[in-house]
Amino acid sequence: MNSELSFPAPAHWIDGRPVPADGPTIDVINPASDAVIAAVPAGTAADVDRAVAAATAAFPGWAATAPAERAAIIQRVSDGLRARNEQLALTITAEMGAPITLSRTAQAGLPPVVTAATAGLAADFPWTEQIGTSLIVREPVGVVGAITPWNFPLQQLVTKVVPAMLAGNTVVLKPAELAPLSARIFAEVAAEAGLPAGVFNVVQGTGPVVGEAIASHRGIDLVSFTGSTATGKRISVLGAQTVKRVALELGGKSASVILRDADVPAAVAASLDSAWVNSGQVCGAYSRLLVPAELRDRVVELALAAAAEYSVGDPMREGTRLGPVASQAQRQRVVSYLERGIAEGATLVTGGPGPVEGLPGGAYVRPTIFADVDPDSTIAQEEIFGPVLAIISYTDDDHAVAIANGTIYGLSGAVFGEDAHAMRIARRMRTGQVWVNGGRMNVLAPFGGYKQSGNGREMGRFGLEEFLETKAIQL
Ligand code: NAD
Repeated sequence: MNSELSFPAPAHWIDGRPVPADGPTIDVINPASDAVIAAVPAGTAADVDRAVAAATAAFPGWAATAPAERAAIIQRVSDGLRARNEQLALTITAEMGAPITLSRTAQAGLPPVVTAATAGLAADFPWTEQIGTSLIVREPVGVVGAITPWNFPLQQLVTKVVPAMLAGNTVVLKPAELAPLSARIFAEVAAEAGLPAGVFNVVQGTGPVVGEAIASHRGIDLVSFTGSTATGKRISVLGAQTVKRVALELGGKSASVILRDADVPAAVAASLDSAWVNSGQVCGAYSRLLVPAELRDRVVELALAAAAEYSVGDPMREGTRLGPVASQAQRQRVVSYLERGIAEGATLVTGGPGPVEGLPGGAYVRPTIFADVDPDSTIAQEEIFGPVLAIISYTDDDHAVAIANGTIYGLSGAVFGEDAHAMRIARRMRTGQVWVNGGRMNVLAPFGGYKQSGNGREMGRFGLEEFLETKAIQL
């Protein structure tokens, strides 16, 4: 364990201060070593009640502040997150196993960028506008419940909590119990930035207890959830009982389509990276690679050569490209999919269900490539959330589009090819995002899913609008 790391005693964060656990706790386990590194409270419905009471009391004051004032505080939160980059990166690597370089950049480095960009929306946002004789006023929804996953724990937190607060809402967050530690650091940073007590609250605990209490709470007006499709459905059912708004960012099975006129080596390298980065625990990962049948052998050869560049090992070591997956349970889940892929007749190109050489402990899995995958088979249809790429051959553009759109999901996707050709295919994909020839990261572009990948959008102006009510004052 890194000597720079120490974790606070198990506590929620309610009304601007830590509230120590007064009951059972949940161990936080480092998936690289299987060691217990910290604990958080196993919260209860009563803890949610306490947090909702604090958020409800803080709401009128916070909602009444000028957007520019809220934006200034949020900009200071961004500065504070930036200043704590190393602490956040070490924490996230310790709790969920992302390689330290990825933690410094994407895991801990991206959230302050998103936070600052969100703060920057306040100035030009149409908080009020005139339509004919009516004054249209955009107001905060009230108390927002946020429930987040473990794969990008701080990034998922920020994409909900920051626009919710900028809009004037107050928040009760339940982070994933597997990776709950960065939420506490965020709470401290927010308090240091001058966020009033009660605006941001954290209740730690499990999904079935704390998550369900949030989804069904009468005092919560909107629940914003990121996680699996199965849990999203459960939250929708619970939220319906109080007609709360439910925003869902769910799973994916995204396709990367290589067209005949693509720069094939670049396309293969980018697709493999998307499938394997963060050990494949990315909702928008291109876990299916669609290739013209006549390019199948070349693509497999290129993928195998690119795979050799991915070192698996201790995520705290500089230069490790793939750490473990986030838990032993997740490892077991991924391994059973690898066994299923072999049983269903896919060609194993590299990897497989066996142990990783030289790494007897920890939740390590062998990064895997399958070829000749049947588009209707389990490993081509279900989200694995591990470092697994399924190469699928297609005959023509229509076939490629049918395969790309042929799952219950619709989160992301990619097309590689001559620009106009790639654009035509991108327009036919039923997904919330499509990356053409690599694309460029844009933190103001909306992110979210079609079909069972969810509803609603995060990031930028579209993400801010999720957290607002619209009032028409008729004059
Ligand atoms: P999960 O659904 O198991 O858990 C997500 C969160 O929901 C956790 O905080 C968990 O404690 C809570 N939860 C679990 N059961 C609950 C219940 N019955 N009621 C209320 N809350 C409950 O998902 P996970 O395993 O943490 O994350 C992986 C999943 O998240 C993948 O499916 C992935 O695609 C998805 N994901 C989606 C996005 C996106 O933006 N679309 C981003 C990241 C992850």
